[in-house]
Amino acid sequence: GMGGPMDFGRSKSKFQEVPETGVTFQDVAGADQAKLELQEVVDFLKNPDKYTALGAKIPKGCLLVGPPGTGKTLLARAVAGEAGVPFFSCAASEFVELFVGVGASRVRDLFEKAKAKAPCIVFIDEIDAVGRQRGAGMGGGNDEREQTINQLLTEMDGFSGNSGVIVLAATNRPDVLDSALLRPGRFDRQVTVDRPDVAGRVRILEVHSRGKALAKDVDFDKVARRTPGFTGADLQNLMNEAAILAARRDLKEISKDEISDALERIIAGPEKKNAVVSEQKRKLVAYHGKAGHALVGALMPEYDPVAKISIIPRGQAGGLTFFAPSEERLESGLYSRSYLENQMAVALGGRVAEEVIFGQDNVTTGASSDFMQVSRVARQMVERFGFSKKIGQVAIGSSGGNPFLGQQMSSQKDYSMATADIVDAEVRELVETAYSRATQIINTHIDILHRLANLLIEKETVDGEEFMSLFIDGQAELFVA
Ligand code: ADP
Ligand code: ZN
Repeated sequence: GMGGPMDFGRSKSKFQEVPETGVTFQDVAGADQAKLELQEVVDFLKNPDKYTALGAKIPKGCLLVGPPGTGKTLLARAVAGEAGVPFFSCAASEFVELFVGVGASRVRDLFEKAKAKAPCIVFIDEIDAVGRQRGAGMGGGNDEREQTINQLLTEMDGFSGNSGVIVLAATNRPDVLDSALLRPGRFDRQVTVDRPDVAGRVRILEVHSRGKALAKDVDFDKVARRTPGFTGADLQNLMNEAAILAARRDLKEISKDEISDALERIIAGPEKKNAVVSEQKRKLVAYHGKAGHALVGALMPEYDPVAKISIIPRGQAGGLTFFAPSEERLESGLYSRSYLENQMAVALGGRVAEEVIFGQDNVTTGASSDFMQVSRVARQMVERFGFSKKIGQVAIGSSGGNPFLGQQMSSQKDYSMATADIVDAEVRELVETAYSRATQIINTHIDILHRLANLLIEKETVDGEEFMSLFIDGQAELFVA
């Protein structure tokens, strides 16, 4: 429980130690990519010598990133179980208490115990509770949080590469984490754990019906189709509620009616309303957000390739997909004029798709963040990058910030009204040109847009290869610049 001042000193430890979790990767359904990446951690724990003999430094920390209930804790337990090592776990929020210094001493205590049992896994849940960027939010400095995080860093820096302690930490907000945590030798690996797609949900339902008596009429494929946006924890809850309903009805088996009734109740509950995406919204998302952007993106010369498209809600990062330049590009910080023009067209592809499919009168507010991004990019092209003939190669205004990171620009004007009019006109023209390019592309390849949207509605996720095969079947030509 939450320790009050009275148990200070009495119960110093706020972590659990499990000698054998008994959990394996088989208990985690779906999440294949995450399991693949974590298999490496299992191997480090099992065969450290194989790596150290070659002079490789075994990683110390790995961040599991994803919304609550997607199985991050379960995966961490499975890593320990697969490697046959003890599992130490704690919630970061439990480190931080009333007294300055308590958190740090709890961290020290945890690692002391863990090192004595190495090789082992230390799992820290909700690391953002202590690991936020210092000075961000929460009214500035927080000595207790800072001391706690410093102690954690000290511990991690202190293990030599082969101490045998590997720290897994979970968060849904990697973006707010203190960058010191992410440096090499600390949490320098990230494993993404997403909400499951329809196939993943079927497998999770199967896992959570083990040991439950199911009637023959239960069809998990149908249940999975009715539960987009559900996490593993939600599905587990669904099966449990269905079992309770069946018991209350004095049944010997859980039938499709109990599952259906349980589902209705869960969806009616307050917190699920947003997570579950209605059929109508799914269609909209499929066309707008995903198919529209992806199609324009794929047909742009020299644009970042489309890796994977999904209509499952993705935590907070959702809308940014197509504004994420490749790592190379981010690193160099250099963007060509045509890259930026392409990027605007890709961003506008969402609205264009909506307009073409649903008609002018039925377009939605779904594109508002796209417009914000496009306006920022266009304005910077004119004001900062010298990409406008009429304004020329001068920097005007004080539009700062990095548009790719969604940072706000301050729009303090340091130029005349006459210049301001030209800037506005140039910005408008850039955006309009991008919009008509996107429209042309979508109109030309409308059949592919429909097929991609239908595939998304059917499967929820489409990978880059499947996406490309639509073009080959449809005999559309990809730009080769
Ligand atoms: P997180 O740590 O991401 O918040 P948890 O690991 O605590 O999520 O998940 C809570 C429960 O939900 C798990 O104990 C498990 O029963 C169920 N669950 C979540 N994801 C899965 C999955 N992929 N396969 C099977 N069960 C899952
Ligand atoms: Zn969009």
